[in-house]
Amino acid sequence: MLKQIVKDREKLLVGNELSDVHCHLDMFKDPFVIAKDALFGGVSIIITAGGSEASSLSAVKMADGDNVFAVIGIDPQNAANDAGFVDQLPGIIKSNRRVVGIGEIGLDYSMGIDREIQVGVFERQIEIAKSLDVPIVVHSRKAISEVAELVKAHGVKKAVFHFFEGDENMASDLADLGYLISIPPIESSRRKRVINKLSIDSIVVETDSPAVGKSPLDVIKVVELVSEIKGIPFNETSMRITHNVKKLFSI
Ligand SMILES: [Zn+2]
Repeated sequence: MLKQIVKDREKLLVGNELSDVHCHLDMFKDPFVIAKDALFGGVSIIITAGGSEASSLSAVKMADGDNVFAVIGIDPQNAANDAGFVDQLPGIIKSNRRVVGIGEIGLDYSMGIDREIQVGVFERQIEIAKSLDVPIVVHSRKAISEVAELVKAHGVKKAVFHFFEGDENMASDLADLGYLISIPPIESSRRKRVINKLSIDSIVVETDSPAVGKSPLDVIKVVELVSEIKGIPFNETSMRITHNVKKLFSI
């Protein structure tokens, strides 16, 4: 145990820079402690995502514009109830430098929410992101083909596919269009094939904490996996991934 901790610590001391491209700080009991611990542990960039009006407004409050940045938007689950908030996105994004994109938005067919309502809210937000020239953070569950088609059809330039659920061929198609593919901290053979097929320049990592990972520090596991599969040293892997995040979100 201690040996492992020392090993992890050594990794973190060699000037590497980790990033968590997708989590929900507002869902933690003490978000500021979580963010501070992550920062001390080497996670210098955290993108916290909204999904409803309330969680989007919390995300804006939590972002400091140095290490923590927010993306805000209405996810499929809230598409029916919070659709009105979509009209407020341009104003909030234009007046807050720490809000760096629109998300998480997309389609989710695991919950029985009306398809047309979901698509309508998704498309409106895609168009707003395009008009503001900010990236979208895409959510997809049991809907990846349709989500990918919509993103392409709207001519989106900047997108990250969070918790990517497609296979390696779809991943490489999307990467060819300049989109980033985000890998969560759950290993599977499909995910390993995705990592293997993609260039490191198209990969980002996330924890989706607290829902999936325990905290943003869990990106370490994902970076380790990517490092192993790509045969690139841990520090270089983490720095290149963080470079991808900074470039997409212009931070
Ligand atoms: Zn999420």
